[in-house]
Amino acid sequence: MAADLDAGELRVTVLGSGTAIPVADRFPAGYLVQSQRANALVDCGPGTLRRLAQTGVDLGDLDAVFLTHYHTDHCADVGPLLFALRSPRYRGRKPLHLFAAPGLQRFLDTLATVWPWTLPRDYELRVHELSPGTFAFEDLQVAAVPIRHTAQSLGYRFEATSGRSVAFSGDADECEELVDLARDVDVFVCDAAFPDEARVEGHLTPGLAGAHAERARAKALWMTHFYPECDGVDVAAQARATYRGEVVVARDLLAVTLRQ
Ligand SMILES: [Zn+2]
Ligand SMILES: [Zn+2]
Repeated sequence: MAADLDAGELRVTVLGSGTAIPVADRFPAGYLVQSQRANALVDCGPGTLRRLAQTGVDLGDLDAVFLTHYHTDHCADVGPLLFALRSPRYRGRKPLHLFAAPGLQRFLDTLATVWPWTLPRDYELRVHELSPGTFAFEDLQVAAVPIRHTAQSLGYRFEATSGRSVAFSGDADECEELVDLARDVDVFVCDAAFPDEARVEGHLTPGLAGAHAERARAKALWMTHFYPECDGVDVAAQARATYRGEVVVARDLLAVTLRQ
């Protein structure tokens, strides 16, 4: 069953606004994108499946997983997902699509050498190694864009039939591609891993996330992927110093439905 959404509507839910460092209230990276015909995960870090259960979406209704890159905080729940889908309760379910940069099949094959119970049984697993570009998935237009973080990092943008849109930076350092990805987007979910005064290479800060969002004319900036260094820091103020749109500090299970 797809989400209870009308044609053209788009729902975005934060499943994990945290990182590899365990903290009580933020799980590692995971997001849910829903349209009338699709339930898709963007990243699947450890804890994503639990948060997904909290949204009421059953694994039987999941259509796709889009991985931004292969760091463990973004994909560790792929194994548990594939194991769970072997349960008899999901026998004959619809195909599950996995999307990521080249290396995905090797990742899955390697996983299966230690966890053979991640191999699909009684359903079809469709593996898509993506080149940069756009394509249709169900009722969504998807763009995959290379992002400066690892050699296999992709940002994703999803557009509903109404034109409403959301973009995900994944982990990101400064790059022009990020501005293209977020151009005029309704919601720009963007790495703001460390405070402005404690920048770490490979990641953005609130001020830098804001600068990219400003140049892209994104309508709202949802900052995410907060390391504990951000605790007690007014990250919203840092973003507002460089960005005039709506600033949102993401937290787990924060959601918005974009209507026509
Ligand atoms: Zn990373
Ligand atoms: Zn990360």
